[in-house]
Amino acid sequence: MSDVILDRRDLRFQLFEVLDTDTLFERERFAEHSRDTIEAALDTAEKLAREKFADHNSLADKEEPQFVDGKVVMRPEVKAAFDAYIDAGFLSSRASFEEGGMQLPDIAAAACKGMFTCVNPSSTAYAFLTAAAANVIRNFASDDLKARYLEPMMQGRFTGTMALTEPHAGSSLADIRTRAVPQDDGSYRLKGNKIFISGGENELADNIVHLVLAKIPGGPEGVKGISLFVVPKYRLDEQGNPGPRNDVILAGLIHKLGYRGTTSTALTFGDNDDCHGYLVGEAHQGLRYMFQMMNEARVGVGFGAALLGYRGYRYALDYARDRLQGRHPDAADFSKPMVPIIEHADVRRLLLTQKAYAEAALAMSFYGYRLVDEIESGEAQSSRDAELLLDLLTPVLKTWPSEYGLKANDMAIQVFGGAGYTREYPVEQVWRDNRLNPIHEGTTGVHGLDLLGRKVWQANGKGMQLLAGKIMADVEATSDARCKPFATALQAMLPKIQAATQASGKLMADKGPRVALSNGNAYLQLVGHTVAAWMWLRQANAAVKLDRPEDEDFANGKLMAATYFFRWELPRVELDAQRLVDADSTFMDMDSRWF
Ligand SMILES: Cc1cc2nc3c(=O)[nH]c(=O)nc-3n(C[C@H](O)[C@H](O)[C@H](O)COP(=O)(O)OP(=O)(O)OC[C@H]3O[C@@H](n4cnc5c(N)ncnc54)[C@H](O)[C@@H]3O)c2cc1C
Repeated sequence: MSDVILDRRDLRFQLFEVLDTDTLFERERFAEHSRDTIEAALDTAEKLAREKFADHNSLADKEEPQFVDGKVVMRPEVKAAFDAYIDAGFLSSRASFEEGGMQLPDIAAAACKGMFTCVNPSSTAYAFLTAAAANVIRNFASDDLKARYLEPMMQGRFTGTMALTEPHAGSSLADIRTRAVPQDDGSYRLKGNKIFISGGENELADNIVHLVLAKIPGGPEGVKGISLFVVPKYRLDEQGNPGPRNDVILAGLIHKLGYRGTTSTALTFGDNDDCHGYLVGEAHQGLRYMFQMMNEARVGVGFGAALLGYRGYRYALDYARDRLQGRHPDAADFSKPMVPIIEHADVRRLLLTQKAYAEAALAMSFYGYRLVDEIESGEAQSSRDAELLLDLLTPVLKTWPSEYGLKANDMAIQVFGGAGYTREYPVEQVWRDNRLNPIHEGTTGVHGLDLLGRKVWQANGKGMQLLAGKIMADVEATSDARCKPFATALQAMLPKIQAATQASGKLMADKGPRVALSNGNAYLQLVGHTVAAWMWLRQANAAVKLDRPEDEDFANGKLMAATYFFRWELPRVELDAQRLVDADSTFMDMDSRWF
């Protein structure tokens, strides 16, 4: 099958017809940019993605990295892709012109990155992790650390990782055991074990910069005692070149269901008591710094999941148009040819559901990136509001695309029938790759706790008020008769969310967090589906404004996907809302011994 890449018509719709990306060019930081410069960057990204990344997505999955003679060996195309990405400047797509970057708005940089993730999520991971780690160093490290590590990372000479997880502490970072002992020269010696570290060993560059969470003995308990360290694979000499090997050892490669092109490593720090690390920023602030990286990464995880949902859908669509099977129920004349399976109502159900999930997930991700631009370049009040809204929405932007992008991939396999279950067709790999997304960067369960336990109450609930205000502004701006029923249905959800929130708050006060948070997942579903419905209202409102004849099918497709979502999907979460209001205790009532 031919490769599926993020379609430029779909991108133009999200960036310029649903969102107001054009208005960003009026801001000083982006004044050098226009639709033309964004389109030019996208042209380059698309060409590179097709030529250097799409070629080995399946090969790198079949031949995953191996540990041979003390080195990680991977397919040569992975390094060629990494180098080409760096050479084309995409690692610095958001950095300022002075730093040699493209100074793109985040939303445009994300669109470019989306080209690569869509065709090969594993090979892009090395560059994305490096950019995210470099960002943390840029924002929080001392000038000395910046001088030594930032430039080589931005030039792709050093790659980056984030090393949080330990064998006994994944979701619960408060319990990490890695220790960092201060030395007279201001450095630290680290000791501990990390697991699942993506890109933790590779031969793509001259050095690897691990950003490691560890505790300094004598510090506060729990997450308040976590600090962040730069731990290089090779220590740097006076000139900043990689010197002696640091005491970071690859304990083993982990073999995974998907994302096989990205090395997944178990690392041992300080087995020989000689692992040098350098504190980033202040002691005990590590989780706060890492959260900056993780919040970016979380929107990115959601976007990656959306792209895989989209990719599976486009494969399924192509297949359904070609595959002939059966006849209509009212036309069982065997002398007539069979029909393409897209003619069958149930296949259309599978396709329309995928479209509704994948394109809502894309819209949601781009909305998140647009908020980042508002935070960074908007007027003071608007920037503060965007920050609150993004903070509130991060659990949704991470988990909704991850859960529903994956469901879309499951349906893509169904559209292919038996062929979908074989390795001859790409949809099984898409599903396997996407299966990671509800797990890493905080599991869906943990994000449910975060949303209901923390995010909705922050700043006295201002984030939720902002969200309701934004939704109502779109409801009130809906004028086309075809979209009015969507606006009415969406508006009706707001009091339900409010009632569920209030009931949860009361439960929290009366019975404490253990009971109140037991339905965190239902709350996440409720808010997630409402945000997805909001994205469909916004897309429908934009679609009805398209008046060129060549856009007619595109616009009708958008309206039908919105119709599906409002008729079949949004009502599903009314049950979640009711169970929250009822303070349902089913999961608490089920005793562990009764399973
Ligand atoms: C392919 C891959 C790549 C990864 N890359 C990295 C990386 O680069 N760096 C890194 O540091 N880590 C990485 N991780 C680790 C990842 O972030 C963790 O797997 C994840 O945070 C979950 O931790 P865990 O696996 O220990 O699961 P656990 O924390 O043991 O969770 C198991 C289950 O219990 C649930 N659970 C746990 N605690 C609670 C709770 N308090 N309330 C309700 N439910 C709970 C979870 O939701 C989950 O369903 C990666 C993982 C994978 C699989």
